[in-house]
Amino acid sequence: MKNIRNFCIIAHIDHGKSTLADRLLDFTKSVTERERKEQLLDNMDLERERGITIKSHAIQMVYNYKGEDFVFNLIDTPGHVDFSYEVSRSIAACEGALLIVDAAQSIQAQTISNLYLALENDLEIIPVLNKVDLLSANPDEVTDDIVDLIGCKREDVIRASAKEGIGIEEILNAIVERVPAPKGDPDAPLRALVFDSVYNPFRGIETYFRVFDGSIKKGQNIKFVATDKNYSADEVGTLKLVQFPKKEIQAGDVGYLITGIKNAKEVKVGDTITDANNPTKTAVAGFEDVKPMVFAGIYPVETDEYEELRTAMEKLQLNDASLVFLPESSAALGFGFRCGFLGMLHLEIIQERLEREFDMTVITTVPNVSYNAYTLKDKDKPIIVSNPSDLPEPTYLDRVEEPFIKASIITKSEFVGPVMSLCIEKRGQITDQTYLTQDRVELSFDMPLAEIVFDFYDRLKTVSKGYASFDYSPIGMRKSKLVKVDVLLNGNTVDALSALLHVDNAYDIGKRICEKLKELIPRQQFDIPIQAAIGAKIIARETVKALRKDVTAKCYGGDISRKRKLLEKQKKGKKRMRQVGNVEIPQEAFMAVLKLN
Ligand code: GDP
Ligand code: MG
Repeated sequence: MKNIRNFCIIAHIDHGKSTLADRLLDFTKSVTERERKEQLLDNMDLERERGITIKSHAIQMVYNYKGEDFVFNLIDTPGHVDFSYEVSRSIAACEGALLIVDAAQSIQAQTISNLYLALENDLEIIPVLNKVDLLSANPDEVTDDIVDLIGCKREDVIRASAKEGIGIEEILNAIVERVPAPKGDPDAPLRALVFDSVYNPFRGIETYFRVFDGSIKKGQNIKFVATDKNYSADEVGTLKLVQFPKKEIQAGDVGYLITGIKNAKEVKVGDTITDANNPTKTAVAGFEDVKPMVFAGIYPVETDEYEELRTAMEKLQLNDASLVFLPESSAALGFGFRCGFLGMLHLEIIQERLEREFDMTVITTVPNVSYNAYTLKDKDKPIIVSNPSDLPEPTYLDRVEEPFIKASIITKSEFVGPVMSLCIEKRGQITDQTYLTQDRVELSFDMPLAEIVFDFYDRLKTVSKGYASFDYSPIGMRKSKLVKVDVLLNGNTVDALSALLHVDNAYDIGKRICEKLKELIPRQQFDIPIQAAIGAKIIARETVKALRKDVTAKCYGGDISRKRKLLEKQKKGKKRMRQVGNVEIPQEAFMAVLKLN
């Protein structure tokens, strides 16, 4: 155990985590040239394009330090707030963390919240100032920021350039010298933490774990504590770029496990693996069942593709346990699914995977968070409302609660004013304001989750000219005045366009929704009235004017039927449209309520 080092990398997106990880692997010759891909730790296509690590993985390397071999387990962490629980479990599996800070950009909110997680778990922090090669780097200033933040000495901050290969050996030495060796009792009953799982279509679920006590052996009868299910450890091993099967993974080490489990739901991140015959008395602390935060309906554009969509969703769920879905139907859209996501990014990823991997064209309805509604009949037991149409009628309603979050925003002092105005507009209440350095301020707000899951981040970037970073964590449900705003097209309520809004904003937003829909809904041969209503009361109205009769004829020169066909085809392909009654609604219309600025 004394020669093992378990560590992760904490960094804001684009500060160089993947590039640095790649360098560490190169330096320790953990990867042959042939095996090497551009960015080793990000191996999902989608992930690479977006530049974020969606799923955490682990990789082992051996580093020879002054003639002695050390085993390093680098545990990768996802870099987005949607996946913060997974980050917390990866951190819990480590004794140390490299804190990477871009020498030009300094510290960002995501870095700070993950740093706090690392400190809570008593991790040794090794600060690394990356990108010192950049002309725009401010190494001295940013070093000051780091020293202020973690209270280390200036000389503890390692200056590096992952791109140019500067400082790599110093980082590797620091991992040996500063990160403590794992502690644990090799003779105690098995106690291992699940920090990640990956779906492999041929082998089933691969579970990634860190052993705290005891050891896990091939063929052992094991138990997952939270799910209370037993399995046989068909294969265990260590993770390099490929998997290396082993007879046993001992206390302190990190490895993978294959049990024949086919469904991601059976392997929960944060769960404890123990010996089925001699179970541990103390599971690893911190297990949580992750709950979806954002809900939306997903419907096939072609109504007859419902079954196909179901199959696709089921397959997606096999490798993404955080995706939940239930069948629902909409008067406007027919049969589809109400889906729960970790956040808006997760929603976008699912939508994109449905299109890419399953060739489905889908419509996603207005996303919303989940509310607790209490009726006059039962003032104690909430009805969980994750679809606006489930909100009880106002006459039966006692009260509604909505989820709140604590938001942390770091910005330059010159943007404090605009950032505050934005947060207040979003029903936020400032709780703290701290100067991290002379011109970097951390603002804390309590805000409704609903206000931030949608367009908040884009707005924040705009008002701060890009100099603001943002992170949040849930703080529970609070009472709120919410109303359901319906949208009527051509006199018919389109349920999939309904939204739950705070009463103070409902009129204004209702008006803006109508204006936005007027822009988005294509003109047709007749006038299309657009109305917003609360109950029977119309609160706003716009009209999409009819096309003049001769217009269609004029725009199609040549072979009209061929062009029509082409149009139909385009509509089916990229252009996601849904016919509701006699009105065509494009996908953007369902998102209009979220993007009103
Ligand atoms: P991640 O999002 O933290 O994983 O960041 P990446 O490793 O993907 O790096 C983001 C971008 O920064 C890429 O374009 C890298 O080539 C670049 N980059 C990473 N490290 C350095 C560095 O030390 N110097 C410079 N100039 N660019 C770097
Ligand atoms: Mg990366």
